[in-house]
Amino acid sequence: MQDITKSFYLAKEREQHRKQFINSLNLRQLELEKYVKSLEYVPLNHYNSDYEGFSVMTTRRSILSTYLSVPHTRSRIIIYPIAFETSQNIDDFLSVLIDHEGQHAKDRYEEPELDDIISEIKAIKNQMTQIKNGKRSVSQSYKDKFFISSLIWALKAEKYDDRLNEIGLTERLAYNLL
Ligand SMILES: [Zn+2]
Repeated sequence: MQDITKSFYLAKEREQHRKQFINSLNLRQLELEKYVKSLEYVPLNHYNSDYEGFSVMTTRRSILSTYLSVPHTRSRIIIYPIAFETSQNIDDFLSVLIDHEGQHAKDRYEEPELDDIISEIKAIKNQMTQIKNGKRSVSQSYKDKFFISSLIWALKAEKYDDRLNEIGLTERLAYNLL
């Protein structure tokens, strides 16, 4: 973990180290291997009009999963420059990469037809769990941003009440985050 921390800071500081940093990440070590085929750095930020903001990372499902809902296919995770700019430390970065995008990849692998909003809520819940149980020591500024974006998603997802109750998230998001 020492090595990855050091090379993360280098990549954060200097754009030209980012592709190499992403290529050096070991999917097995990150426990992503089963669900993720590759990690790819794209050096141009991507504005997402659904979300009304820049994507930090994106999980791209396989063609078979997207069009035919075939299970057990692996996704690609795309990482944008803003991921380095908004992550203060390696745990901020891994919170998005492993706990959020990794959860999307796992969901698509296991249940390709899962609703996008439910998948988003599950990913946020997983991030929250790993922060709360101490696995990710994220920065305070990350926590603040995460709190706001989680609330926005909770509000957006209100119409999904039934399934959200099952997942048990809305209350935790609203009253008991971090
Ligand atoms: Zn997401």
